[in-house]
Amino acid sequence: MDILGIRIDDIDMDNALSKAYAALCDNKSFKYIFTPNAEICMAAIKNNNLMEALNSSFMNIPDGEGVVLASKILKAPLKEKVPGCVFVQNLLGIGKNFSVYLLGASYDSVSTAAQNILSHYPNISISGFHDGFFSENQEKEIIDDINIKKPDLIIIGLGAPKQELFIYRHSKDIRSGLAIGAGGTIDIISGFAKRAPEFFCKYKLEWFYRLIKQPKRFRRMLNIPLFLLKCKQHMLFKKKKD
Ligand code: UDP
Repeated sequence: MDILGIRIDDIDMDNALSKAYAALCDNKSFKYIFTPNAEICMAAIKNNNLMEALNSSFMNIPDGEGVVLASKILKAPLKEKVPGCVFVQNLLGIGKNFSVYLLGASYDSVSTAAQNILSHYPNISISGFHDGFFSENQEKEIIDDINIKKPDLIIIGLGAPKQELFIYRHSKDIRSGLAIGAGGTIDIISGFAKRAPEFFCKYKLEWFYRLIKQPKRFRRMLNIPLFLLKCKQHMLFKKKKD
């Protein structure tokens, strides 16, 4: 569906996993998946390049409750929320053999995540990893490393919108593999960060948990209600036009 110009796939977890695995097997060209939440969508409304990046992906899974709420306001409700970090872990645990490259987070976090993947998912091999704090000059070196190692899956966690713009900028340079722009997933796999406890997930309060943990996000998170307001405005305008 289209949410204020951003293509979001109306897909549930199981179908998203099947689609991603099929893309992994058909490793002839480079494809990428994004995990937009309301914050990223709002940023894309203000940034054309980010909008183009999101709309150029192979699949955009609805990462947050805000996106699902927006789809309800727009009277085209999405099936369900597909949290990016759960999606990535489910894909790793799908029971198939494939190789993974990790790009993002601190060196300690990404190297621990690589170790944890090897011990938790016996079918997965690690073809390489790199931390997420690099200069523009180092980008070519990283892309060359990915092209030499030819991983099936590339988990990219540089934070939004850095990871979306990085993937889009290099979409013609990376020759194969399926990349996922995965925010803080590497920190979750390494154990350096925790997902919101069950209580917060059950009552759709993951955003509140993130706010308590990272109060610095407050300004950024104001984009969530702003985004919902934009959807409401869009519907009012549409009603008037009809
Ligand atoms: N990060 C990175 N490089 C940067 C900035 C951030 O690798 O230049 C990493 C950071 O260490 C963390 C992830 O990106 O692992 C961002 O996680 P967050 O949950 O904040 O994701 P967001 O909600 O911003 O997508």
